[in-house]
Amino acid sequence: MATVYAIANQKGGVGKTTTAVNVAACIAEAGHDTLLVDIDPQANATVGLGAAKDVEPNVYDVLAGSATIAEATLATGIERLKLVPSHPDLAGANSELPREAGSEVRLREALVAARGHFEYILIDCPPSLGPLTVNGLAAAERVIVPVQTEYFALEGLAGLLDTLALVQRELNPRLTIAGMALTMHDGRTRLARDVEREVREHFPALVFDTVIPRNVRVGEASSFGRPVAHHDPHCPGAHAYLELAKEVVVRA
Ligand code: ADP
Ligand code: MG
Repeated sequence: MATVYAIANQKGGVGKTTTAVNVAACIAEAGHDTLLVDIDPQANATVGLGAAKDVEPNVYDVLAGSATIAEATLATGIERLKLVPSHPDLAGANSELPREAGSEVRLREALVAARGHFEYILIDCPPSLGPLTVNGLAAAERVIVPVQTEYFALEGLAGLLDTLALVQRELNPRLTIAGMALTMHDGRTRLARDVEREVREHFPALVFDTVIPRNVRVGEASSFGRPVAHHDPHCPGAHAYLELAKEVVVRA
């Protein structure tokens, strides 16, 4: 049975998608059958794995109940990594879902049948705490929270933790935090080092040891539709994501 992870932080641009794609790719390359579910209408994870963002059926059809996860699952360039793509139309789900009873657990219900086919399922959430992210959190056992080591890094984390507590209470008592992953870290700057120390002090035991450095190869890789391990396996970003994936697996 798969362990399901949501990659969530309502802030945009903190490295959620990059972390979801690269951790999923590393876990798959280590020999585990892995599924990445893209529930962000921006479809960055979909494109970042080389798929088009207008594939049918996609996760929108899954949430609407007109397709199963199996029907919406695509192969990727990585043998053991499969993808359920997103679609720009998914933006509409934010207003449609809340009007329907039981809509918070649509994704969880859709994933029940898929859980037997994978060891790891990662859900890339959009940059909000709206209905789509709630679906992601309700479907997951563990949350990975990417935190960019920049000014205001801690801002918003309290809101995220409140949402996690609410989802735990109302929808998913099994939900726990796998860890916070420090991302896009520029170790040369005093600010980034201060922020790292501050986050570790604030959340002792919750922050992964591995820090993801800012590395242009990481951003380039997504524009080529592949994980950084395939783009440049020896760059610092590829090494760091491999280490982070090991920590995620060990804590599973
Ligand atoms: P989110 O999903 O939280 O919005 P992304 O993963 O899309 O964030 O990252 C935001 C931008 O930063 C993207 O353009 C991505 O390519 C870039 N990026 C992410 N991680 C790194 C990194 N370690 N080094 C350099 N650029 C990065
Ligand atoms: Mg994203």
